[in-house]
Amino acid sequence: AKALGRGAWCFYDEAMTQAARERLTLEARLRRALAEGELRLYYQPQVDIASGRIVGAEALLRWQDPDEGLISPDRFIPVAESSGLIAPIGQWVLEEACRQAQQWLTAGLPALTMAVNVSPRQFLLGDLVAGVGQALSQSGFPANFLELEITESAMAERPEQALALLNRLGDLGLRLAVDDFGTGYSSLAHIKRFPIDVLKIDQGFVRDIPESADDMAICSAIIAMGHSMGFAVLAEGVETPAQLDFLRERGCDNYQGYLRSRPVPPDAFEALLRAQSV
Ligand code: C2E
Ligand code: CA
Ligand code: CA
Ligand code: CA
Repeated sequence: AKALGRGAWCFYDEAMTQAARERLTLEARLRRALAEGELRLYYQPQVDIASGRIVGAEALLRWQDPDEGLISPDRFIPVAESSGLIAPIGQWVLEEACRQAQQWLTAGLPALTMAVNVSPRQFLLGDLVAGVGQALSQSGFPANFLELEITESAMAERPEQALALLNRLGDLGLRLAVDDFGTGYSSLAHIKRFPIDVLKIDQGFVRDIPESADDMAICSAIIAMGHSMGFAVLAEGVETPAQLDFLRERGCDNYQGYLRSRPVPPDAFEALLRAQSV
């Protein structure tokens, strides 16, 4: 590095320090956010396409920072992953989602599937089975209404390890969903062996319907293939009636998207549920 000359080295070194400092700051702030209770879960309805009824919720993490306001997960999940904070944060998400879902159940609202995102690192490294068991037993929420969303790439990375883990999770009675299906590298040979319940079509394939014939062909193929393998299929990112019409016509089971609702805080989600149960 010295061969580049002192100026170049200093510049490089400073840039690195700056990046490291920013990352550390965010990491330290995130650690504090977890301890101080600044993390929140928002909920987005999962809707049965045939009946139009809300049958599930996806829990989506938000960080309510006192200075910056609401921070989106795309900004802090990567930091949580690389720092290892994803383990305690992921556990908090599991416990809070189960607690909330059980509270709605005991309030007499119709039973819902509660879908929780599990990050690749949390999936492959953490003791997920014990963590899930704890979230279920302390909340009393029934296992068969809890769904874990795991990305296709997390499953594909170490397929044998993933298969063993998915089998143990399946044995707890949970439902398992493949998130962002179609975007990662994955082998259908593996997917076929996994105890999966749901394929979630990535919103990137839904966005340009009905303009993109390619995307329509991909969605149709995923729906047909998912059904023939015995999975339910959910489309993400549905924003327009035309997209929903297309998915309905192709026999897609469920959808999520702004067309029905953005992810909302718990009170607002509860209001959506009450509005449909009368
Ligand atoms: P994801 O799991 O694929 O979640 C779907 C994302 O699409 C959410 O973004 C949601 O708000 C957004 N979305 C929903 N409907 C629409 C729509 O109609 N149009 C558009 N354009 N977007 C829509 P969000 O909440 O910002 O989350 C981003 C990502 O952060 C998630 O992608 C997920 O990978 C990650 N994430 C969120 N919560 C958690 C969590 O608790 N744990 C982990 N490990 N990851 C999480
Ligand atoms: Ca998800
Ligand atoms: Ca299962
Ligand atoms: Ca997704």
